[in-house]
Amino acid sequence: MATTTFKPATEPQIKFWEKLLESRTHPFTEETLAPVREAIERGELPAATMRLMIDSLQGMPWKNARTFVAPGFYRYTQDGESGVCEVRENPHNKRRMAFTLHLPEDGGQKLDRRYAKGVIATLTDDDRLSIEEAAAWGKQTGYCICCYALLTDPKSVALGIGPVCRKKYA
Ligand SMILES: [Zn+2]
Repeated sequence: MATTTFKPATEPQIKFWEKLLESRTHPFTEETLAPVREAIERGELPAATMRLMIDSLQGMPWKNARTFVAPGFYRYTQDGESGVCEVRENPHNKRRMAFTLHLPEDGGQKLDRRYAKGVIATLTDDDRLSIEEAAAWGKQTGYCICCYALLTDPKSVALGIGPVCRKKYA
C-alpha cells in the first residue's frame, strides 16, 4: 500500500464538488468542511476520497426540489404560450422537470413531449389539473393526457381519458 503512487483530487473533481455543495441539501457546514478544504489546498486529499465525497453529494436532494410542485399534470403559461404540461421526477436525483405536451402535427398516435426549461418554476398547486379537467382536455383534443395516446375506443373518446389512466390518475 505504501508504495502505490498518491493521486490527489483533480481540478475538475474539486470544481464539481464545490458545485454540488452549492446545489444540494447536505449536512456539512463551513466548519466541518474546513479540514477538507485545507487538505485540498495542500494537495493531500486523495482523488479516491474526493470521488466518494462526490458520490455521496450526488445522492442528496437538490436545494430547489422542495419548492417545485409534485409530479402530475398542470396548465402553464410561459412567454405568452399556454397549454398543459407534465411534471416528472427523476428517480435517481429527485430532480423535477416540466415537459409541455403538444398535439402531433401529423395527427399521429402520440402527443409530443418537450422539455420546457423554466416552466417548472412557474407552476403552483393551483395549476394542477383535476381529473375532470384532464378528461375535458382529452375530450377536446382526442388524446389521453396521462399516456399521450390518441383515444380510439368510443368510450374513452367520450370520457376524454383511457380506462386504465382514469384509475391511475390521482
Ligand atoms: Zn392514457
